[in-house]
Amino acid sequence: MNKKSEKEWEKILSSKQFQILRKKGTERPFTGKYNNHFEKGNYSCSGCGKELFTSDSKFKSSCGWPSFDSPIKDSVIELIDLSHGMIRTEVICSNCGGHQGHVFNDGPTITGKRYCINSISLSFKKESFSKKK
Ligand code: FE
Repeated sequence: MNKKSEKEWEKILSSKQFQILRKKGTERPFTGKYNNHFEKGNYSCSGCGKELFTSDSKFKSSCGWPSFDSPIKDSVIELIDLSHGMIRTEVICSNCGGHQGHVFNDGPTITGKRYCINSISLSFKKESFSKKK
């Protein structure tokens, strides 16, 4: 695990990233840059850079946040979250513990899952088809 103190994170991250990744905030729906983003590539944790989701697992969702039907294997940890009077499953980065979002059992694909993730917690890298320098 990539362990940093909250003071260190505060220096490295933007204030919005810090609010969401470290304070478990939620960006307003329909405002994130990856909500309606469907390029081919990978989505990494915007805190530590660990790859968490691929574009193949992303689907169109009306919930207002980027939605995936599965994470990259062992890239996230799921925790019970009893905050705000709800029972939810929180999704965090397995490397740095950064808050990503929540996972719900109402996904439209075969996995039945909807990983509802904050755009601010993600950093997209386009798939490169050419390995030439
Ligand atoms: Fe991370």
